[in-house]
Amino acid sequence: MEDKPMDGHQSTRFDVVPHPAPTAADARAAMVANPGFGRVFTDHMVVINYTEGRGWHSARVEARKPFLIDPASAVLHYAQEIFEGLKAYRTPSGGAAMFRPEANARRFHNSAERMAMAPLPESLFLESVRQLVQVDRDWIPSADVGTLYLRPFMIASETFLGVKPSAEYMYMVIASSVGSYFKGGGDGVTVWVSQHDTRAASGGTGAAKCGGNYAASLRAQAEAVRNGCDQVVFLDAVERRRVEELGGMNVFFVFQDGSLLTPPLDGTILPGITRDSIIKLARDAGIAVREGQYTLDEWRADAASGKLQEVFACGTAAVITPIGRIRNPEGEFVAGAAGTAGGPVTQRLRKTLVDIQQGKAADPHGWVHTVF
Ligand SMILES: *Cc1c(COP(=O)(O)O)cnc(C)c1O
Repeated sequence: MEDKPMDGHQSTRFDVVPHPAPTAADARAAMVANPGFGRVFTDHMVVINYTEGRGWHSARVEARKPFLIDPASAVLHYAQEIFEGLKAYRTPSGGAAMFRPEANARRFHNSAERMAMAPLPESLFLESVRQLVQVDRDWIPSADVGTLYLRPFMIASETFLGVKPSAEYMYMVIASSVGSYFKGGGDGVTVWVSQHDTRAASGGTGAAKCGGNYAASLRAQAEAVRNGCDQVVFLDAVERRRVEELGGMNVFFVFQDGSLLTPPLDGTILPGITRDSIIKLARDAGIAVREGQYTLDEWRADAASGKLQEVFACGTAAVITPIGRIRNPEGEFVAGAAGTAGGPVTQRLRKTLVDIQQGKAADPHGWVHTVF
């Protein structure tokens, strides 16, 4: 890439130090053919360091391996940590492409600002994911199996127990060959309504992609699993009535008149790139989309009356997944009148999006970035 300064005076050149003993080709092929989700990791990682006064420096691609941090590192105590999630797709010609990576770079920047961390220049974020996809290109599954999931993240690495923004950060990118996120297909996911725990409050960190939001969601997630559910749907923290989002996915409602509704980005919801893409693709197709509030009571009533037909969750990991059932301690209802397996609007939007991501359909918004 061009030799722009990283943050002041450093250059953005990446040192590439290949893994001295990469995974053997046959072992890798076996792992990539049936990867599951989040357990198969590639041979390399990106690391970039930040030091106050010096800026971002020491960008490198190197063997993926455990690393040492001091027990007094700030992240271990005060959870100054953010992350991103995006995918590299196999293209029909055997190359690779990423979907809207500049939107991830922008969101990472915004998350860093919310968490008082040093923002990584967006150009550096983009170059880092490109570098890793290039080096670990053989780990990208074929399009029928899955994708290469990229996980950029940043931790506060200063050794200091005082409470203040860290003066040092480590930015890293790891990559994982992945299949589909939810096992099995057919029926949609069952979601558990969290009664006690909320995900985010006004003025909090709900719009930042930080690990702390997930830590706070895990008790409700465990409760969901104990109750036979796949995911949690969180309600607003004030009235406990309005639907916000799932633990890691945004949600859309499809009505009988063909229109879509999704909760608004009011600061307590993560601004999903899949969410934004669906809004744009739906509007391209002449579908009316509203960003507005919707309560659990309205959801139950509209599903019963037939006004609400389909409900789906969306995010990079699971793309678009129908929500089949809603459950809470009092009982359960079918999420939309079209049934537990979703419906035609969900299916059509999913196909439209996946075809663009996989390079099988025209890309009217210029969302697909070829890597090689
Ligand atoms: C990442 C995430 C999403 C989905 O965002 P995408 O950009 O579509 O992957 C939704 N909700 C939460 C809480 C998230 O962390």
